[in-house]
Amino acid sequence: MADTDRTSTAGAPLHVVVVGAGVAGLGTALALATSGQRVTLCERDATPMPGDPDAAFAWDRRGAPQVRHSHALLARLRNLLRDRHPEVLAALLEAGATEMVFCDMMPPEIDDPTPQPGDEDLVALACRRTTFEWVLRRAVLEHPEVDLRVGLAVDGVIATDGEAGRPVVTGVRATDADGRTDTIAADLVVAAAGRRSGAVRWLAELGVEPEVVEEDTGIVYLSRFYRLLDGATPPEQTGPIGADLGYLKYAIFQGDNRTHSVTFAVRTRDDELRSQLLDPSAFEVAAGLLPATAPWVDPAIATPITEVHVMGGLLNRHIRFRDEAGEPLVLGLVAVGDAHTCSNPLYGRGCSLAMVQAELLADAVAGHGADLHALVTAYEDASTTEIEPWYHAAVAQDRMARDAAARERARAERGQEPGTDPGADDEADPGSFMADVMREGLLPAVRTDAVVFRAFIRAFNLLATPDALMADADVLNRVMRAYQERDQRPPEPVLGPPRRDMLAALAS
Ligand SMILES: Cc1cc2nc3c(=O)[nH]c(=O)nc-3n(C[C@H](O)[C@H](O)[C@H](O)COP(=O)(O)OP(=O)(O)OC[C@H]3O[C@@H](n4cnc5c(N)ncnc54)[C@H](O)[C@@H]3O)c2cc1C
Repeated sequence: MADTDRTSTAGAPLHVVVVGAGVAGLGTALALATSGQRVTLCERDATPMPGDPDAAFAWDRRGAPQVRHSHALLARLRNLLRDRHPEVLAALLEAGATEMVFCDMMPPEIDDPTPQPGDEDLVALACRRTTFEWVLRRAVLEHPEVDLRVGLAVDGVIATDGEAGRPVVTGVRATDADGRTDTIAADLVVAAAGRRSGAVRWLAELGVEPEVVEEDTGIVYLSRFYRLLDGATPPEQTGPIGADLGYLKYAIFQGDNRTHSVTFAVRTRDDELRSQLLDPSAFEVAAGLLPATAPWVDPAIATPITEVHVMGGLLNRHIRFRDEAGEPLVLGLVAVGDAHTCSNPLYGRGCSLAMVQAELLADAVAGHGADLHALVTAYEDASTTEIEPWYHAAVAQDRMARDAAARERARAERGQEPGTDPGADDEADPGSFMADVMREGLLPAVRTDAVVFRAFIRAFNLLATPDALMADADVLNRVMRAYQERDQRPPEPVLGPPRRDMLAALAS
């Protein structure tokens, strides 16, 4: 993604219909309007614009139910706003979001806390998803080029026959909140309708079948939000913000306006733990047992402000809108955000990638305008480089985590404590070795070695390619050194009880 000003080099502005005003749709509208395109933004949810962040927190956004869950807004997203939409970053801070400066949160054991060039990029945003979306929508509404139509559901597309049997989408069919249907003509239609987007169905009606690759994440999300009590200071955060216990993954997320949230991810098949954690009092017990969340749910400093929200059906999914030769299957329609590529929410990448992809699209539109073949090709090429690798990374990370969890269950059945002595079967398993290197090499090195700390923060925040961390020979050597020294230091801190102890605590 070029960091330069985007000035259209390709003729008259286009009229673009964007379907869905979630993060991807709003980001697309903002990026296109900034470069002078005309946008009609259609959002099915017919809810009025809230007046402030707390009203936005109660926003009826049933079209995007994940807004009720914790959202990490990574440094890649914050830097994109800083560089391309500084007014939005300023408005977020004005609305109560804060910047999380990673180098101010270095663990106390770090070997060299001296500031380095590039540290100014290692900054994420602490903000609820609803506040982020509310500020983004306000910024979009400032643009006279954008016509936001709420309560308008797009049902399908209209198209003409193009060259080589490839349809050209020329607009959308839509139904308003009173049931009236209409068509809207467009030079370009952008499907930004989220993980349940109808784009594949709309294309099927034209006889086009994009390839959909997907893999279930195997987890269910449970989240609860809290607010710090008046006068309470937030706990100091220099240790891990969460952990993967195999049977349970958890994290603490800081929000705006003195809010924060705790999220648990439970295996889809673990009905026992999931049903327990749905009970708010059991949720409190569990959060109180985990070192990263316990200080944040202490009733002396914070109070819950929601029930426990649950969400399942979480897939990694990538849709290929081109054929094997790289030719577009359709012209006049592209997808952005989850409607194009969505990944396990645990990695917190969806909003950042959606905003990056919105900018990639605006770049392609500015560069190619009404030359739809060149536009779609440039956009999909850029998405293949910048977005698709994160789909594959998420699938690989999920498989590794699933395998590690299966090994932990096997160890537990053999009566061994989590993370102790690999069994004979494990020793020959390269997956087991990698998991051990992560736990006893990478994690301690992140805590103690400033080079590994920065490399890890960069990778986690999408500031490097997915394989950059372990492809860097210096970083890898440092990680392996920490791994080899594992017997010369105290055991890694325990990040939570084994499953049987957790269930026993919840039952009592
Ligand atoms: C549980 C959970 C936790 C997550 N945590 C994180 C996180 O920590 N960090 C992060 O960056 N990402 C996270 N994500 C991912 C993130 O929420 C998505 O990647 C992001 O919302 C993508 O935005 P989107 O605009 O593509 O889709 P959405 O935000 O889902 O928006 C789609 C919009 O389209 C509208 N719509 C749908 N169909 C139509 C139609 N036919 N006509 C008109 N409008 C329509 C919907 O009403 C909705 O407003 C999480 C996701 C989940 C499920």
